[in-house]
Order: sequence, then C-alpha cells, then structure tokens
Amino acid sequence: MHWKVGRVKITQIVEMETIGHTRFILPQAAKEEIRKLPWLIPHFATEEGRLKMTIHALVVETASRRIVVDTGLGNDKEGRNVPTWNNRNTPFLEMMTAAGFPPDSIDTVLCTHLHVDHVGWNTRLEAGRWVPTFEKARYVFGRREYEHWRDHSLEPDKAAVFADSVQPIVAAGMATLVESDARICDEITLVPTPGHSPGHMSLHIRSEGQEGLLCGDVAHHPCQMAHLGWSSTADSDPVQSAATRRDVFARVADKPMLVIGGHFKGGYIQRVGDAFKFAMAGV
Ligand SMILES: [Zn+2]
Repeated sequence: MHWKVGRVKITQIVEMETIGHTRFILPQAAKEEIRKLPWLIPHFATEEGRLKMTIHALVVETASRRIVVDTGLGNDKEGRNVPTWNNRNTPFLEMMTAAGFPPDSIDTVLCTHLHVDHVGWNTRLEAGRWVPTFEKARYVFGRREYEHWRDHSLEPDKAAVFADSVQPIVAAGMATLVESDARICDEITLVPTPGHSPGHMSLHIRSEGQEGLLCGDVAHHPCQMAHLGWSSTADSDPVQSAATRRDVFARVADKPMLVIGGHFKGGYIQRVGDAFKFAMAGV
C-alpha cells in the first residue's frame, strides 16, 4: 500500500501479517470487546473480533531522501522470545527491490525505537557476520533509546537483538545518534513519544501544506484509540504510554492528517467522546 503527504510518498513493505494471536501483546483486546468497535472491521479486525496486524517497513520518499522507517524482524536472527521470529528466511529484500527500492538505493534508515520487530533488517548475515543491509545508508537512532538499550539489554533476548541488529551498525561507523525532536530533512521532524520504550520517536511529515504522522508503536493497533488505557505488555512505561496516546491522538484528531502505525495501515483519527476512532485511507 502507499500514501501521499503533499509530495512525500510512503510505501508499506509487509514482512509478516497476523490475524489473532495478539493477546500476548494486548491482553485486554478480547474478541467480544473488539466486536463492540465495528469501525475496526474489516480492515483492522475480523468479523469474529480477531485483530489484524502487520510487521512492516515504511519507505518514505522526499524531494531529497529515500528513508526506510523501521526494519522488521530480519532473516537468520536467533534468541528471540517469539518462536516464529527466529531463523526466518523470507524474501523481504527481494520484495523491496521489486517495489522499486533496492537496498543500495536507501540513503537513510530510521528506527522509531530499538525493539526486536523494528531493527531486524538493519543487518543481514554474511559469511557468519552481521553486516549492514543498507550499505549506503546512514542509520538514525534516538540517542536516548540507543543509550537505554546499550545499558539495559540484560535479558538474553534483548541482548541478542542489540548484539545482532544495533551494535554492528555502530561498529561499522554508520549510526547517527539524534535527539528525539531532531529535524531529519525539509519535510520530516522527529517528535518524542515515550512510553512504549524510553526514547520512542514518531515522524512528523509536512509537505505542500499537508501533514502526516508515522507514530510507530504509540499504539500497536487502532483499538487502542478507543481504549487509550489498553497499554501493551511490551510497553516499558504503561502509564506514560497511555498519556502519550491521549496527547498524540488529541493533537491529530479531526484534521486531514494521515497517521500510519508501526503495525497498522494509514488512516485518519476522529474524536468520539473522550476517546477516538480510526478510518483507513490509502491505495
Ligand atoms: Zn513493534
């Protein structure tokens, strides 16, 4: 799928699509609760109330840049705590190339945060070593996020992610650490959106009077627009994450402002009483 914000084009490259099996991440999103939100069906949930989610990368093309935002799970990775996230072998890079984005055409990689499902394709395995996948790119990481995981990747699965998908980029001299409100190019500015992780960032896009927000994992699924307090089990600070959702959605609601998630397609947010709902957009 793709979307446009002024002259900026955004293309979704899907690595994995899931239906259901999401209670481990959003335990409150029971089927009977989801069925009470008919606007989620069919794009974001099934008739039975099972959630639809994706793990994807977003390619953002501006006048001067070709940016990959978040890089999925990657191939050949090990030590992940979700069984199907280990030892993957998918043609993701071939899919990117077929969509018009060969890896060597990417000039910037930007990770909204440094979780397992957002950094995987930062690297690929070559002759037993993890090497940068996007060999001509600068990799942009939030300084706060990077320092957090550098110092706190204590559990084995977190340590594995940092070691195989983040540190090789820094070791190769290809990482640029930025503040969470840095300007990336004429059209794109970062917005600090902490809660899901300590240094989580969103991307604000502005072009020719139009605006968009790539909000990463501020919400994992649009059902959290109706239930702002449904924080994910992966949120490092569930109270902050709920506050960030309320703040971000209030700022963009009822405006012609495209919002695309780290795990859901783009659309527009509308206020409903004390919460929000979502209407899908894009072709
Ligand atoms: Zn995620």
